Amino acid sequence: MKFKKAFFIKLLIIAAVGVAGLIALLARRQAPAQDTRLKVVTSGYVAFAVAREIGGDKINLSMLLPANAEPHSFEPTPGTIIAVHSAGVFIYVSPQLEPWVKDILPSVRPGAAVVEAASGAAPSKDPHIWMDFDNMRPFARSVSAALSGQDPANRAFFEERLALFLKELDELDAEYSRVLSSCQTREMVHIGHLAFGNLAARYRLHLTALAGTSHDGEHSVRKLAGVIKQVRQSGVKYVFTEEEIAQNLAATVARETGAQVLPLYTVEHVSRQDVAAHTTYAQFMHRNLTNLARGLQCKA
Ligand SMILES: [Zn+2]
Repeated sequence: MKFKKAFFIKLLIIAAVGVAGLIALLARRQAPAQDTRLKVVTSGYVAFAVAREIGGDKINLSMLLPANAEPHSFEPTPGTIIAVHSAGVFIYVSPQLEPWVKDILPSVRPGAAVVEAASGAAPSKDPHIWMDFDNMRPFARSVSAALSGQDPANRAFFEERLALFLKELDELDAEYSRVLSSCQTREMVHIGHLAFGNLAARYRLHLTALAGTSHDGEHSVRKLAGVIKQVRQSGVKYVFTEEEIAQNLAATVARETGAQVLPLYTVEHVSRQDVAAHTTYAQFMHRNLTNLARGLQCKA
């Protein structure tokens, strides 16, 4: 009898656990955890970083570009179209920087807001507009206005975050001006694509970039030879490179000239580690200033 009772209880427990599990499963199916926050989709990391500064945890934020991808020649997938169609706000930089965006703009839902970062930027042949803090201010304001327009209940939150971000931009700008006015050389040799033209122009640095404005620009042997010659003649002790690309080219320049290599961060082509770490725009720009100060031998 005793044995039978124990066995029966065991069966009951197994059945109860099973039923509980089934109920939990059904409950999950019937009521999926719904994210009711405003859905914001960005083209790449620059727009993503700005949207995160302004929207914080009040928005459901995602970006189209995967980590470690470069934005100029990205190719949209059906998933890209679905993501853009589901967005309440879509943010990108410009058709010059992201030529593929024009193909997905028609899939934006009627009534959704679209922000083009470059619409408030100063004209420049370099489409990396975020490398000039003056272009970041109107961009951040447009993002805040779009978020508030779609989600007026959180307007005060967005405006407060905008004010903090604008203050951070002012501080960065002041620090760049201070540090970069005290350098022994203004020769900025970049073994990468033309992503720092606006930064160089803003702080009156003389920039030589190995390639044009997109990542797939030609790195011709002739151009490389020209850069090596220039480094030797000008006697610069450091050259700059960028994340993920052109490392072998930078190593060649270093080997041929004896110059040391320092990384700069484009903010557009971002490593998996930085995406996972939620590295902010300001953090990238601080890293850039640290390496520029070292490479240009600035005193401040
Ligand atoms: Zn670029």
